[in-house]
Parts: sequence; C-alpha cells; structure tokens
Amino acid sequence: MTDPLSRTHAIALDAADPLRPLRNDFLIPKHKHNEQVYFCGNSLGLQPRGAREHVLQVLDKWSHEAVEGHFTGHAQWLTYHEQVREPLARVVGALPSEVVAMNSLTTNLHLMMVSFYRPTPARPAILIEAGAFPSDRHAVESQIRFHGFDPDTDLIEILSDEVDGTISMAAIERAIAEHGPRLALVLWPGIQYRTGQAFDLKEIARLAHAQGAVAGFDLAHAAGNLPLRLHDDNPDFAVWCHYKYMNAGPGAVAGCFVHERHAHTDRPRFAGWWGHEKKTRFQMGPEFVPTPGADGWQLSNPPILGLAPLLASLELFDKADGVAALRTKSEKLTGFLEALIRARVADTLQVITPAEPARRGCQLSLRVTGGRERGRELFEYLTSIGTIGDWREPDVIRISPAPLYNKFMDVYRFVEEVESWRGV
Ligand SMILES: *Cc1c(COP(=O)(O)O)cnc(C)c1O
Repeated sequence: MTDPLSRTHAIALDAADPLRPLRNDFLIPKHKHNEQVYFCGNSLGLQPRGAREHVLQVLDKWSHEAVEGHFTGHAQWLTYHEQVREPLARVVGALPSEVVAMNSLTTNLHLMMVSFYRPTPARPAILIEAGAFPSDRHAVESQIRFHGFDPDTDLIEILSDEVDGTISMAAIERAIAEHGPRLALVLWPGIQYRTGQAFDLKEIARLAHAQGAVAGFDLAHAAGNLPLRLHDDNPDFAVWCHYKYMNAGPGAVAGCFVHERHAHTDRPRFAGWWGHEKKTRFQMGPEFVPTPGADGWQLSNPPILGLAPLLASLELFDKADGVAALRTKSEKLTGFLEALIRARVADTLQVITPAEPARRGCQLSLRVTGGRERGRELFEYLTSIGTIGDWREPDVIRISPAPLYNKFMDVYRFVEEVESWRGV
C-alpha cells in the first residue's frame, strides 16, 4: 500500500477522481509556463470556459436584434433570468419559485430586511456572530438605526467561545434563549468567512422561530460549497453572492431565497416593476401587484450580461451531478490538505477551521506561527511562485481547494512549497 500522504498517493487520488474532467471546463490562470495552484475560490472562483460564449451570445443578439432581443428565441432577455431559476434552486435545495438571481448580496440583504426585519420597541434586536463580514454588519447596523433603534443595545453579537475563534452550537442556543423575547431577526452565516466554520442551519432556524424571531442566512461562503437544503431548513430568507464558489465572475449578479410560506406575503417591501405580476407588468398600471415568490422582490429588469456567466457556471454544477457529488470530493480534498499540514508543516501552519467535516466546507483557515511578519513572508512567497490563497489580518492564510477545479496534486504541491520555504 502506498503512503497515504505521499506524492504517489496524490497522483492516484487524482486518477481515481470521477470529477476530474470538470477542471477542463475552467480557465486556469498561468504562472510563467505552468498553471497556477489556485485556492482562492472563497474570494473569486475561476472562469468557466462557457462564460465567454454565453456573454458573446448576448452581445451578438444585441448587435443583430437590438430591442427585438427581448422577445426572440429561447435566450430572449424578457425571460432570461428564468433560465437560471431551476439550476440555481438545485444548488441551494429550494423550490424554483423560492429563488431569484438579482442585484448584489448586500443589496439583497437590505431588501430582505425591509420585509423581514420589522422591529418593535418590545422586539427590536438583530442577532449576528461577532466578527461578521463588514458588509453584513454595516447592513444590520444601518437597518437598526433606520428604524430608530440603537445598535448599542439592539445589535447582539455572539462571541466565539472556542479556542480558535469558532462558536459552539451551545453558545448560539444560549444567546437565542437569553435574548429571545427581544429578537426580531437572527442573521447567521452558512460558513463564517474568517474561520471557515459551517453551522447547523436547520437548528438555528428552528431556535430562532421558537423564540418568535425571523431567521435569515448569509450563504456567501456556503453556496456552491456545501449541499444546502434551504426549503427544508426553513429560514425565512437567505442571500448569497455568485462570484465565490459559484464561479460567475467578479461582481456577478447575486442570489436570494424567500421561503414558500412568504410567497404571497403582505409584508412591506421595496417594490419595482420587475417584481410586479408578470401577466400585467406591461400594462404599465400605477398599482403594484407583487408576483408570487422570490421574483416579487425584483426591482429592475436584470443585467443580462451579468447573468450570462452565471448560466455557464450553473451548467457545470449540473454536469458535476450536483453539490452533493462535489461535496464528496471536497471532503476528501480538504481532508487531504489537513492531514498533510498536520503531518509535515504543523510547526508553521495551525488549522483554525474545525476538524470535523460537518463543521466546515472546503476552506481551511491557517494561522502562521511566529506572527504577522512571518505570515506575510510566507504568503508573499507562495504568491510569487503562483500558489494563490488569500490573507486575513493579522496572521491567517485562507486556502480553499474547490472540488470543481482543484486537484489532489494542487494540495500536495502547496504543502511541499510551505515545507521548502520553512526549510526542511
Ligand atoms: C463576500 C461577502 C460579502 C460581499 O458582499 P457584496 O455585496 O457581494 O459585495 C458580504 N457578506 C459576506 C458574508 C461575504 O462573504
């Protein structure tokens, strides 16, 4: 038997990987004459080969047909976003009517809070994790102020209670119970961006609802990374972006989920003509009648050029036979990375992401021992030789092997490079 941590074994794992051909559907950036070792899908996923073709189709249609492009053929712009709906619903485990691709993540978060964060003097608070992504924190803080409440008392942040900055389920449960009667909204990440920790979303939604609060999820780091079951997990809403593990390109059109039970809600919302009932939209009447489901939160006619790469990306999720198949590889790939780090460079890199596969996605957050300066040195060395992760202050490198395009040999090379930098 080969040594499970050897180069030979890495090569064998790649040879046996049924998803390996999918790498050829991506454009891998070059470093000098070789392909980069790209581990930055947590920030910007690689370009699907099909993206260019889909964008060119839109440009060609525009040049040949101009305004008629809205109404002709299968890819007509009037219904273009509907092509996204079913494959996207498969990725996040939702009914097609529960999802829509629109706007950007932070915009969608605000739109969802307009409808689902309805604070009262008795129940004004939002619960989030301490150290949340700044945009989410700005969004919730500004919403609290917008409604005339005070973030000092009404923005509740759960502190990490575990050694490496992660948060136990017990701490979440305690906080929801403690603040329950004052909670209007529990807004929780599917995966925490800094630590890479994944959460039991179903349980968090259940706990929030048991206290009479709304449950919303930010799935920026979970969409395309973990198999999600949004309909069954039962949050009221969820938002995510499509440029990380969804590979739809820089600033891609984002995603939004509204649970079926709110399909016909009379909650307040910020409205626009694209959310108006489809069959009467072009009668151009003054009265807003929302179209049922997530589509009813759309404001504008969608940016077709922005949706085109998302269509290309979603085709690959179907080609992979869904996120569950990707996850099987992902657990092996990230497990291989973790085992190699522990065996060969444990004196240099400390894994702060939880070790249990159920509590993480593909990302490992790695604290460089010796502090910031040494960490920066290693990070810059890796970048200089074409091994791409990203840096989080003060001393963390995030490495995210993506099962759609990363190889076991990428992981092996990364650890070998860290070893050679450190000096064997
Ligand atoms: C990436 C990310 C964002 C980015 O927000 P945009 O509106 O897409 O710029 C926001 N929140 C979280 C948790 C993220 O990971």
